[in-house]
Amino acid sequence: MIELRTPAEIEQMKPAGAFVARVLEATREASQVGVNLLEIDELAHQMIRDEGAESCYIDYHPSFGASPFGKVICTSVNDAVLHGLPHDYRLRDGDLLTLDFAASVDGWVADSAVSFVVGTARSEDLRLIEVCEEALRAGIAAAHVGNRMGDVSAAIGAVAHAHGFGVNTDFGGHGVGRTMHGDPHVPNDGRPHRGYPLKPGLVFAIEPWLMLGTDEIYTDADGWTLRSADGSRAAHVEHTIAITPDGPLVLTARRR
Ligand code: MG
Repeated sequence: MIELRTPAEIEQMKPAGAFVARVLEATREASQVGVNLLEIDELAHQMIRDEGAESCYIDYHPSFGASPFGKVICTSVNDAVLHGLPHDYRLRDGDLLTLDFAASVDGWVADSAVSFVVGTARSEDLRLIEVCEEALRAGIAAAHVGNRMGDVSAAIGAVAHAHGFGVNTDFGGHGVGRTMHGDPHVPNDGRPHRGYPLKPGLVFAIEPWLMLGTDEIYTDADGWTLRSADGSRAAHVEHTIAITPDGPLVLTARRR
C-alpha cells in the first residue's frame, strides 16, 4: 500500500534523514586504510545509542536473508554491491567501499548510501561512482509532481545506459516511512510515463547501483552480501526523498 505523508509528517521525518546523513559522514571519515569493517559498524552502533535511534538492519530478516542481519550498517567492499555484511576485514589502499545505513528516529525511517574509494583511487572506480551519482541526481530531478515513477526509473536507467552499463532491476528503491521498505518499488530502469503518478507526500528511496563488468550478481556464503558475478567492482548510492509541491526534498542530504 502506498502511503502519502502530510507536510507535518515530512517535517517529522527530517531528524531521521539528518541523523542518517550524519552517520554516513562520520563512518566515511572513519573508513581509512587499516580500519576494520567491524569498527565502522561499532561506530554507527554507538551513534545509534547516543541518538536514541533504532537500527533498521540489526533484526532485519527478509526472505532472502539467511539469518537476522546482526549489524547496523552495510559495508560493501569492491565486488560486493549490496547488503555487505560487516566482517573482520581491514580496509586496504584502493578499496571501493559502499556504506548503506538506515535508522529510525522518533518512529520515522531514513535510508541512504554512499560509495567512495579508500586511499588511492583507480580512475575506473571514480568513474563508476560518478555515473552512479549522476544516475541518482537524474532520478531525483525526475521525482516531481506531474511525473510518474516510470520517469524516475527511466532517468536512472538512461544515465547508466549512456555510459555503457547494464542495469540489474532485482533490487531498487522503495517507499520509506514508519518502516524501511514499503511501496512503491522504484526500479533502476523503466519506461517513462508509466507507473504510479508522483504525488506530494510520497517518500521513497532512490538507489542506483552499478557494476563495472556485468549486471549479474550472486549471494556470498555469508548469506547476505551480494557480489558481482564476474568479480568486477560495484558502486551504490542512495537518498531518501520526499515529493513536495515545490519539487523533491532530499531528506538525507550530506555535506559530503
Ligand atoms: Mg539503503
